[in-house]
Amino acid sequence: MTHLDDRLRALRGQVREWGADLRPLALEIDRDPEAVRGHFAHPAVRHLATMGIPEEYGHEPEKIDGHRFYGVSALERAVVMEELACADVGTLVASPGPLLAGVAVGLCADEAQKRWFYGRMLEQPLWTCFALTEPEGGSDAAALRTALTATPDGDALLSGEKRYVGNACRAQLGVVFARARPGPLGVQAVLVDTADPGFVAEPLDMIGLRGAMISSIVMDRVPVPADRFLGRHLTATRRGVWAFVQTFNVLRPGVAAIAVGIARAALEYVAEHRGALRGAGRERFDELTRRVDATRHLVHHAAAAVDARGTDGHLASAAKLRAARLAEDVTLGAAGLLGPGARLAHPFLDKLARDARAMEFLEGTGNMQRLNLFQGLLGGKVDRDPGPTASRATAGRPAAPRASAP
Ligand SMILES: Cc1cc2nc3c(=O)[nH]c(=O)nc-3n(C[C@H](O)[C@H](O)[C@H](O)COP(=O)(O)OP(=O)(O)OC[C@H]3O[C@@H](n4cnc5c(N)ncnc54)[C@H](O)[C@@H]3O)c2cc1C
Repeated sequence: MTHLDDRLRALRGQVREWGADLRPLALEIDRDPEAVRGHFAHPAVRHLATMGIPEEYGHEPEKIDGHRFYGVSALERAVVMEELACADVGTLVASPGPLLAGVAVGLCADEAQKRWFYGRMLEQPLWTCFALTEPEGGSDAAALRTALTATPDGDALLSGEKRYVGNACRAQLGVVFARARPGPLGVQAVLVDTADPGFVAEPLDMIGLRGAMISSIVMDRVPVPADRFLGRHLTATRRGVWAFVQTFNVLRPGVAAIAVGIARAALEYVAEHRGALRGAGRERFDELTRRVDATRHLVHHAAAAVDARGTDGHLASAAKLRAARLAEDVTLGAAGLLGPGARLAHPFLDKLARDARAMEFLEGTGNMQRLNLFQGLLGGKVDRDPGPTASRATAGRPAAPRASAP
């Protein structure tokens, strides 16, 4: 199991402190996700606005107890995301910042593209979007149809539709996945300035995780200069499908940590509002608390695996699968502990249960995580048995990454 060192404990303590005054915003952001614009000065929102931008692009680190934080490691992000999701997941997902798009840029962009993207992110808080899912179905992401059509001058035009893309309706920059040719190697990621002509994004109605403002996008011949093709300096195998599979591997422990944070928030709420629990109620509360702690260990373990080797996203699939289920079980269990009518009487708990449900879909559904995990097991990338014999027996056999969805 992974235990946090002094550095990460200092980060956790600071972010927990920041989070204390986010909780009162939860219902406000749930009603109106645009209300986050009034909180850009909050240290948590400021941290998220540049989290993940590497030092060499001019990112001033967060300095806590003599340590410097850039948000570039999966474990560091998991710590931040659990704490902020526990404080208010709505503000976390509503905040501007590079997140998924920033990870894709970090993995695939060339130097000029990184300077352009990170430079703009450092000038002022900007929302970004990572547009992969399409209306016909998000799980089979490699089957996407949005077209990237070459023009005679070497640039391209982007046409098609995307669906359920977080924050797209207010994003200024985006990474959009499109098809330049048939087949898996024909998928290409491009950087888009959403102010470019032909790009229209509209918010969709949401029940849970309303802060994320998931949106539909229609692109009608959006001009994409050749220098916005991500990974133009890389081989074709490293540009499209590889880019989103790797982006998810890197970010998946953070998504799992968000689910752990939602579950923890529900238990904290019960502890605050239920008074002393006895008998079966106490046992149920303790059992849910143990599940939260155990899942956090798994999330940290998966984040450490991803930090050690970016392609090791299989354990993170197990963590995301388990954490999404946990968030639903705990939020509904918490309502049960507060008695009949709890979701009506406690709007914050009702919001948590709605938010928890969205975690099933975000970054790939449970079934996609199961497929990824079992591919890792079959390929020998995840030990069936953590004992030394099993580790030796399965070591070194690689598994191809799966092209599942965000
Ligand atoms: C809050 C939120 C934020 C999101 N943010 C983004 C974002 O920023 N960018 C983006 O591109 N997308 C985003 N999404 C979309 C998300 O990635 C998709 O919802 C998800 O990939 C599932 O796709 P779908 O909704 O089209 O469901 P489908 O793919 O149609 O799946 C429907 C059901 O069928 C099951 N299923 C599908 N294929 C298989 C299979 N082969 N085997 C077994 N079961 C299968 C699924 O598990 C699911 O239960 C977001 C979604 C949510 C809820």
